[in-house]
Amino acid sequence: MNDQERKDIKALLKKLIAETTAKVAEYEELCKPIAPDVSLGRLTRMDAINNKSVAEAALRTAKRKLGKLNHAKTNIDDPSFGICSACKGKINPKRILLMPESDRCVRCASR
Ligand SMILES: [Zn+2]
Repeated sequence: MNDQERKDIKALLKKLIAETTAKVAEYEELCKPIAPDVSLGRLTRMDAINNKSVAEAALRTAKRKLGKLNHAKTNIDDPSFGICSACKGKINPKRILLMPESDRCVRCASR
């Protein structure tokens, strides 16, 4: 990976971390317990519960992604950054730009 690629990835990570942090906050808001005194109709309440479990799943995914992005940000200056954690091969910089949170190459990730 050259300096320019590293610089691009750094900028991208910063942007993605900001976006994902905002998403986590948004999902956390949606996951707040539904107040029992709110007078929702029966169907609306079921909708709310349904939406809540969708939001909870999205929150988990977003949090996991944020963790990986922060991890990538911490490690980007490390010589092992861009090396597949499974086969120790070089990860295509294009893949890192698409999915900077991934620490495996295309081949290993699809296994
Ligand atoms: Zn690999």
